[in-house]
Amino acid sequence: MSNTKRADVALLRCEDYEDRKLDAIIAQAAEIAGFPDVRGATVLLKPNVLNASPATKAVTTHPSFVGAVIKFVRARGAKEVLVGDSPGWQPGTLAAKVCGIYESVQKHGGVWVDFGEASLFPITNGKKLKNLPLTTALRRADFVVNLPKLKNHHLMTYTGAMKNLFGLIPGTAKSAMHLQYPNVADFGQMLVDLALSVPRCFTFMDGIVAMQGEGPGAGTPYPLGIVLASQSVAMLDWVATRCIGYDPSRIPYVLDGMQRTVGSESFAEPATYPLIVSEIGHEGFELLPYGKSKVGQRLISIPDSLRALAGSFIRMRPIFHTKKCIGCGACIEICPADALCLTKRSGSNIIHIDDGRCITCFCCHEVCPAGAISVGRAPFRFVHSKMRHTYPQGRVPRP
Ligand code: SF4
Ligand code: SF4
Repeated sequence: MSNTKRADVALLRCEDYEDRKLDAIIAQAAEIAGFPDVRGATVLLKPNVLNASPATKAVTTHPSFVGAVIKFVRARGAKEVLVGDSPGWQPGTLAAKVCGIYESVQKHGGVWVDFGEASLFPITNGKKLKNLPLTTALRRADFVVNLPKLKNHHLMTYTGAMKNLFGLIPGTAKSAMHLQYPNVADFGQMLVDLALSVPRCFTFMDGIVAMQGEGPGAGTPYPLGIVLASQSVAMLDWVATRCIGYDPSRIPYVLDGMQRTVGSESFAEPATYPLIVSEIGHEGFELLPYGKSKVGQRLISIPDSLRALAGSFIRMRPIFHTKKCIGCGACIEICPADALCLTKRSGSNIIHIDDGRCITCFCCHEVCPAGAISVGRAPFRFVHSKMRHTYPQGRVPRP
């Protein structure tokens, strides 16, 4: 029997992705947080493969981190190690190849699976959901090992263990959930419904290089130098947000996850080991505001015509930068509200947005490969009003 001290959340220092060091850290984290017995089992690893970005951009879980966990799970006697994800609009395999995860999976004896097909899974004690279409790869798995990247997130403030499991929903079905739950509070409850329903799930989080600023896709890498592990996605998120300087009680879905996990509105801080949160330096980490502004939230419930006008002045929204746009169409394809179209003028790509339709889910910002979309408050949109005048039905047509 091991003498290692147990904790709710393993919190360890790890400054880089050097293979041998990572192997030891993963094994230690697993021991502290109580990794399950996976002998003879099929284990599904779920890294964050948000889009086709090189590993150095810190958009995805680092391939060496994924490789270390594959080696660990195989050494613990797993029969088969599946690794998969489903970016919102690109083929998963393409994105996994660009970030290096695909190669790492092959090198370490895993099997890459694209989350293309879905089937209905029950959601237990959900506030919003009774069931949800999730990847059929879950049906093959006895255990899920969740491998999130620690990042800012413009819609949810922070993304980590719970939000990473949202990727179990294949492809563009994810953005449809934004349309179904346009309010951040409702969307957050849906996320928690899903995350707490994934059975036999253990999380290792890559916080070695985190993403600050315009996350989850357009922020900048921040060398945070930590690895976290836990049997509880909610406790891990609570600790991770503290490690970068957020107050998790101000991030509604993180608070909701904790309260549902412990079964009470008040609770003690999760125990961590060997480090405590105050030992983690996060000087200069660029945080995001706590969710959309309250004004922006209220705008969701008013009629389209008024929302378009009022929202043009005061809400946070996507802003498109023509000089950077490469015209790939990813934002148009992912947009659940069908609010965007692309035109070309003098060789430039110009994205037009219908403010009346936009639900400010920021999926477009998340997938843009060129950093051509930021989030902020912008002055009134003359282009927008012109488009609505040209198309009186209020709908911006696709080109
Ligand atoms: S334009 Fe962007 S933020 Fe607005 S609904 Fe579409 S994807 Fe979401
Ligand atoms: S704004 Fe970004 S995602 Fe949209 S077409 Fe331009 S480069 Fe592609």
